[in-house]
Amino acid sequence: MEHRDRPIIIAGPCSAESRGQLREATEAISSLPQVKMIRAGVWKPRTRPGGFEGMGEEALQWMQVLMKEFGVEYCCEVARPEHVALCQRYGIRAVWLGARTTGNPFMVEEICEAMRGSGMGVMVKNPMSPDLKLWVGAIERVQLAGAQEVMAVHRGFDVYNNEGLRNAPMWELALRLRRELPEVPLLCDPSHLGGSRERVAALSLAAMQLGYDGLMVEVHPHPTLALTDAAQQLTPGELATLLDNIKEQKHQATDAEVLRLTPLRRQMDDVDHELLRLLGRRMELSREIAGVKRETGMSVYQSKRWEEVLADRLRLAETLGLDSDFVRELLEKIHGESVRVQMKG
Ligand code: PEP
Ligand code: MN
Repeated sequence: MEHRDRPIIIAGPCSAESRGQLREATEAISSLPQVKMIRAGVWKPRTRPGGFEGMGEEALQWMQVLMKEFGVEYCCEVARPEHVALCQRYGIRAVWLGARTTGNPFMVEEICEAMRGSGMGVMVKNPMSPDLKLWVGAIERVQLAGAQEVMAVHRGFDVYNNEGLRNAPMWELALRLRRELPEVPLLCDPSHLGGSRERVAALSLAAMQLGYDGLMVEVHPHPTLALTDAAQQLTPGELATLLDNIKEQKHQATDAEVLRLTPLRRQMDDVDHELLRLLGRRMELSREIAGVKRETGMSVYQSKRWEEVLADRLRLAETLGLDSDFVRELLEKIHGESVRVQMKG
């Protein structure tokens, strides 16, 4: 396998299930030069007891043999300090902290202690909840433990409005992580984001357009037979097609192409300034209204009026082709600020 700087592609089955399955996956994936490392879960976090919980140490033994046969490197999830010690014993190149671990600083700390001085690469998946500080904090702990190759993996957030996906991307959070930790490569995990095979390609392309450094994709030789995450794993052939599409998309813009953006950006600047001036005017009106409400003894929050405002603005938004969820969220934010301003008086 060739090692390229960009994009960093990690691919492999959700779980290492049997010697045969891991061998078949490894043989197919190792023939793709873009793939840097093979992933395979060895200990599986399960929401409820009784499911397939991973093959544990036995899977690491298979990996040790296959590493030599195919000249590949493996990575897997660690959730306890003992897992780290076992991975080291079997020569696993890199490990990752799963979403359920990143959200638990005690566990992150224990795993980091076990990793200190190991020289293993470490990836940190985002926590289940959209809490940027937890994600950044886990990465900082890993860095403090002396890990050299640290990467972040964006696998989406378990929130109410998940945009019809398995996990809500909330891309802006991952991009904020990148601004806070620009030295840490950011990978996208389109498999756990999408939750279904059909969604993986579009999410991967979206991530590459946003400037992600690479992908961690679930790939299984026979996805429908997979013991975990059967719906979201690609076949090795589908991965090959996806990687070709990403390559085609990678195109360095020329100076002339960048220049075409300049006048549009100027107009965008003007629109933003206008929006802020209008918001300022709206808050002034809010203060005037607060004065009248105080004088007449009316309460600040008038639910009937707010419902009418919302319905009116959503009708307008529709005629303007704006997304109604986006407009509703924006208006609720503005209204919240308006109520706060009126309470202050
Ligand atoms: C996985 O990668 O198979 C996994 C369990 O991921 P996450 O921690 O993102 O749920
Ligand atoms: Mn999985």
